[in-house]
Amino acid sequence: MYGWAGKILRVDLTKGTISTEETKKYTDYLGGLGFGYKVIFDEAPKAGPFDPENRLIFAIGPLTGTMAPSTSRPEVISISPHSYATQAKHSMASRSNFGGYWGAELKFAGYDAVIVQGKAPKPVYININNDKVTIEDASSVWGKDGLAAQEAIKQLQKDEDIQIATIGPAGERMVRIAPIIHRLGNVARQGGFGAVMGSKNLKAIAVRGNKGVKVADEKGLIEYVKVVRSFQPAPLGATPLSSGPLSWTGKHIDPADINHQAQRFNQTESNAPWLMKYHLKTQSCYSCPQGCYTYMKTPKEGMGAVSCTQWFYAWMGNRDEATFQASQLVNKLGLDSFEMFPMIQFIWFLQDEEVNGKSLLRHMYDKKLVSKKNLDVLEAAHYPRGGGDLGSAGLEGMLTMMAYREDFLGDALGEGFRRAMDILSDEFKRLKMPDVADGVMKFVKMEGIMGGVVGGNGGWGMSAHYDPRTFGYYWAVNFAMENCDPMRHSMTNLIEWTGLSFEQAMPVAIRHWGKDVAENGLNDIHRDRTTPLTWNGDKSAKANAYLSQFIHYRGCIKDSLTGCDWVYPVMVSGREDRGYAGDISVEYKLVGLVTGEKMTQEKLNEQAARTWTLHRLLTVLEWNDGKAVNMREEHDQIPDHFFAPVDTRLLPAYPPADPPHPPLIRENFEATKTEYYKLMGWDVKTGLPTRSLLKKLGMQDVLASFEAQAFKLPS
Ligand code: SF4
Repeated sequence: MYGWAGKILRVDLTKGTISTEETKKYTDYLGGLGFGYKVIFDEAPKAGPFDPENRLIFAIGPLTGTMAPSTSRPEVISISPHSYATQAKHSMASRSNFGGYWGAELKFAGYDAVIVQGKAPKPVYININNDKVTIEDASSVWGKDGLAAQEAIKQLQKDEDIQIATIGPAGERMVRIAPIIHRLGNVARQGGFGAVMGSKNLKAIAVRGNKGVKVADEKGLIEYVKVVRSFQPAPLGATPLSSGPLSWTGKHIDPADINHQAQRFNQTESNAPWLMKYHLKTQSCYSCPQGCYTYMKTPKEGMGAVSCTQWFYAWMGNRDEATFQASQLVNKLGLDSFEMFPMIQFIWFLQDEEVNGKSLLRHMYDKKLVSKKNLDVLEAAHYPRGGGDLGSAGLEGMLTMMAYREDFLGDALGEGFRRAMDILSDEFKRLKMPDVADGVMKFVKMEGIMGGVVGGNGGWGMSAHYDPRTFGYYWAVNFAMENCDPMRHSMTNLIEWTGLSFEQAMPVAIRHWGKDVAENGLNDIHRDRTTPLTWNGDKSAKANAYLSQFIHYRGCIKDSLTGCDWVYPVMVSGREDRGYAGDISVEYKLVGLVTGEKMTQEKLNEQAARTWTLHRLLTVLEWNDGKAVNMREEHDQIPDHFFAPVDTRLLPAYPPADPPHPPLIRENFEATKTEYYKLMGWDVKTGLPTRSLLKKLGMQDVLASFEAQAFKLPS
């Protein structure tokens, strides 16, 4: 098998057994994400996230470890402790991934995936060294932070180059917002999979391999990678610009100015220019020419890596070294940096919102839900009421409190911001303080930064990117279908971060999707914040449904090939002679060259359809315990506030947030859903995948298994 290692590793921590099985069993599902969903569907679809039978899968794809650009981000799949839908009977399967070198190393060691199940009787780590796989005692590593733990394992194994994925103290305590950490800052952030590792007493998975990857057409691959890279010096797919507003309106970067293009993107310069004196270099994941993240070193914090939402503290209003301190702290403690947006806003809200002349936080102190020490910490961490820099006061104590679950309040915050609201509100109800209980719940309506989404429940309890009111109905459907942050960069790579103006980007959109889709789906995204989206009836519904399907299929392909979201699909190029267009057929050409299979986009789409259908069926099983359910009505919804004008003040006061666009119209949303179900081959009334779709996709085994444990799907 070209591209594949051919073997999947299974480690049962309860039994202490290690075995391998053939990769071939899963290749209809392409790799990465598809593998993970199939394993969960086949083996434990309704497990609780912390049940020993829950599977934790690290999976890679045929391109991982080859020279195909930006394709070594292993996918992590499990039943998520982070996802939170009060209507669901079970926790839902979810996904995350991380960059760095671990994924490529796993392939070099000879494996396409690692399936972890069971629970070790005491802390352990898994050590993979080519064919030699052992379960090692982790008692000397347990308790160490996410960076120190890696150093300790390197010393234990006497190998500086070993690649390690680990958890921090938060994961050990099953904090539901605990990620998995690799190297200095490559993190599988959302989903709470660090907590799943903690529940299994699994501190880390260390990997070392030297087997290489067999490629079917080496010469062809080398030549084609040159072609792909020639789309530069402008963005290969595009990453955020080093300056300028995060919107395509009025933006036009000179293609000759490569210092303002993604290839030379320097996130320190963009996000925290005051830290440039500590910037060491930009750094890349395996096989990636982008170098999108920053290596930094300060006298106080030492060495670390920062990228994307790890800059959260700067985006929230900090302008000094505390920006880097905050990033280091979340990586060391093992907390999800993206969750910190709503979480810190929630902590501020508890102080700003008063009931009977007293802040919610002070009510908590009165009832001994928070200690004096942590009350002082949180009040110090409030944004400065008189203006000025956010600063570092209280920062470490606040993050430590949730990572270590200190006090009733810290324990609640360790459950994630959305669960914490319910826990605290319920506690005040129990204490017969209904006004305070209601006060806590007001946060759900708050409009925060990141497009006003983080205060709602767009990601089923997880913070989520970008407001559907800004992007439109395809983005709203995206929110409705996913079980986590629905963010897929495929769209934002074109419409947010390219440096192309609306006028430059629209022809690219037409080239990729045709005139009808581009003009009716993206027609007026550049509007100002007072103008509602225009709606051209059926045409808009169909165009938005098409874009939504594109996002989902291309997301499944990318996550199954372990491609990077910043890059795939390659939407744009900075080259004027290409009309700034990228090439959205790159993935299948790379797969063909690596595996030797005759590949087409249709074939990849079919594999994506299988993966997305599995995700859907898993959600159906988990949502209503396998009993009949109308997904259209129950699951495929977005928070009400997207359909209504803002009725509460904006959060946070730091920094001032843009007001959201005018509300969506519910009947347009429903019309888009109808067209989406039709495109997907799902039943329009219930949103369920049909029997004929599963047969068409060759998923008879899945159909039989689903119907045996649940109910008959619509024909
Ligand atoms: S673009 Fe950044 S995150 Fe993506 S693979 Fe490259 S270096 Fe890693």
